[in-house]
Amino acid sequence: MSILSWDDYSEEDTLVIESTHNTVEINKATAATKILQESLENIHAKPTDVANTPILTASVTQPAVDEKPADNIIGLEDIEIGAARIRVDDKKIINCRADLNQLVPFKYQWAWQKYLDACANHWMPNEINMTADIALWKSKDGLTEEERTIIKRNLGFFSTADSLVANNLVLAVYRHITNPECRQYLLRQAFEEALHTHAYQHIIESLGMDETEVFNMYRELPAVARKAEWSLPYTQSLADPEFHTGTTETNQRLLRDLIAFYVVFEGIFFYVGFTQILSMGRRNKMTGTAEQLQYILRDESMHLNFGIDVINQIKIENPDVWTKEFQNEAINMIREGVDLEYQYAADTMPRGILGMNAEMFKEYLHFIANRRCAQIGLPQQFEGAENPFPWMSEMMDLKKEKNFFETRVIEYQAGGTLSWD
Ligand code: FE
Repeated sequence: MSILSWDDYSEEDTLVIESTHNTVEINKATAATKILQESLENIHAKPTDVANTPILTASVTQPAVDEKPADNIIGLEDIEIGAARIRVDDKKIINCRADLNQLVPFKYQWAWQKYLDACANHWMPNEINMTADIALWKSKDGLTEEERTIIKRNLGFFSTADSLVANNLVLAVYRHITNPECRQYLLRQAFEEALHTHAYQHIIESLGMDETEVFNMYRELPAVARKAEWSLPYTQSLADPEFHTGTTETNQRLLRDLIAFYVVFEGIFFYVGFTQILSMGRRNKMTGTAEQLQYILRDESMHLNFGIDVINQIKIENPDVWTKEFQNEAINMIREGVDLEYQYAADTMPRGILGMNAEMFKEYLHFIANRRCAQIGLPQQFEGAENPFPWMSEMMDLKKEKNFFETRVIEYQAGGTLSWD
């Protein structure tokens, strides 16, 4: 039973996909960041940046200590019996020195709310009916060669992309986010990345594709490989066990990884593929595959928004990281992401099909990039860019199919009831 309707996705692009609470939080963060930005030039005029100096015996004669604060905590420290109880004010998003094993009291309500929202939107790839897709894929004249290419290449990109994102989360980012409610969301996100890889594997297996060919595309097809190649240095840099945050330079390294993976990888690199496949679904082709991607897109839009909240919170607590130089670097990263994703669009659809062409994707990517810049407090880069695919924001609106999720939640509760007989 297909629950989603592929008919009416033509409403205006609202762009607001968060709950009211989260939107307010982002706006507050953006406003606060603006105020802090205004004082940044003064901060950086000083020869030594003291705003974020770790509270330890850092010495100018021991630069190695400054690069690696000794009291960086990760949550595995020995228990201190009778230590003072945690207060909200003790909590910090990075470089926190309060116990990381106590979820409450909450400081970042937006993180906890996203964790709850993500759990409420739970879904599984094998619940989606793939019968029509299998028949269409196996029929001789159901799909054109170009449509087949689009499906194969996108599965080629996505089937390894979510593993890259998951590895970045658990092996590079998690250790440095020193807040339990944010970590709670990160753990949920990590599981969702596993679900997404599962969904791609499920599609590939259902359609009887050559799985080796698809999973190897990121090492064999330049348009797919380039996006993975672009992102890997950012995560490799953080995954070094000797790496610790705590100085302006190292905090910026973490921020760079967050921008690379949340804003560019999940926030730009996924969008050509999502649009292409969802456009097929709207034309009643490969509707099971499109439905899988619609659920993935909804999860991804929340990953992106969580990443943006984290980036903005780090900026608020560590205004010294947001230098003019660093902002320019972030803008360049977003621009590089747009170029690579446009290249990917041109390679996957050399000729216009499905009412789309590469030029429309250029406009779409400029529109998305402007939005990403605004979300993290950077100036928009592509003036006047408009959204040629307004139906896409309907696709990711979590409130749209409320009945669907209500049904699902009930099913999970029923299915998950334990029997002790
Ligand atoms: Fe994701």
